[in-house]
Amino acid sequence: MTGGGSGIGRATAIAFAAAGAKVAVDDIVDAGGHETVRTIQNAGGEAIYIHADVRDEEAVKRMVETAVHEFGRLHFAFNNAGISGGARPEEFWDSAIFNETFDINARGVFYCMKHEIAHMLHHGGGAIVNTASVCGMAGPGHPSYVGSKHAVVGMTRTVGMAYAAQGIRVNAVCPGAIATPMVQRVMADNPANIKAIENLHPMKRIGEPQEIADAVLFLCSHRASFITGHPLAVDGGKLAG
Ligand code: NAD
Repeated sequence: MTGGGSGIGRATAIAFAAAGAKVAVDDIVDAGGHETVRTIQNAGGEAIYIHADVRDEEAVKRMVETAVHEFGRLHFAFNNAGISGGARPEEFWDSAIFNETFDINARGVFYCMKHEIAHMLHHGGGAIVNTASVCGMAGPGHPSYVGSKHAVVGMTRTVGMAYAAQGIRVNAVCPGAIATPMVQRVMADNPANIKAIENLHPMKRIGEPQEIADAVLFLCSHRASFITGHPLAVDGGKLAG
């Protein structure tokens, strides 16, 4: 589980552990990753922390190897680490932000799927969920973030189709605005944003990390056994309009 030290990743790591999974929590902010592991362990669950930067293919390969070494098998993977990239108007064409956003949000998901699938193929299959966004399904925003999340949706479809007959399901969650440190940072710049962001969603609120964790659990479960290559919106109705 990448980006497990905060927000959606932390909530999902805790939800998987509560459902009985042994969880390998990846992040690059060690304090956050350790905090997630402590929370799981204090509740009686099993988890380890692995420091791996998803931009680094060798580190991603080691992350998968370490998780398999510790727990024996990789049944599920949640490729969730991501950044918002720049949100200010002057950052729209910022090439450095574009490169960093694609490196983490898109290339990172590519590396993760590559090494997770290499393991799952020879060990009875599995289920992968990638974190895209409503920005992976529609245009509003900046080309760096919107483009990187469209890439996640595209790769989810392609890889989902490629491995559908081999017992590996690959899906994506597409969250609307969710109450995590990422969104809190955007809101902190301008508290007037809060109402505007809430109003983007027909439900007139932002979502909770737990609501994404529930969708990831569903996509990894047998209840989703005929679902693959699918970007699932969890967005209070935002993409409906
Ligand atoms: P967050 O900032 O709370 O958590 C992201 C985590 O990813 C952090 O712990 C961070 O340290 C980690 N991370 C960043 N770069 C990394 C790297 N190179 N390698 C490993 N870990 C790295 O944000 P969040 O809101 O929980 O976001 C999680 C995912 O959800 C992201 O992919 C984001 O784009 C997506 N998303 C979030 C929202 C939202 O409103 N919060 C909406 C749609 C999609």
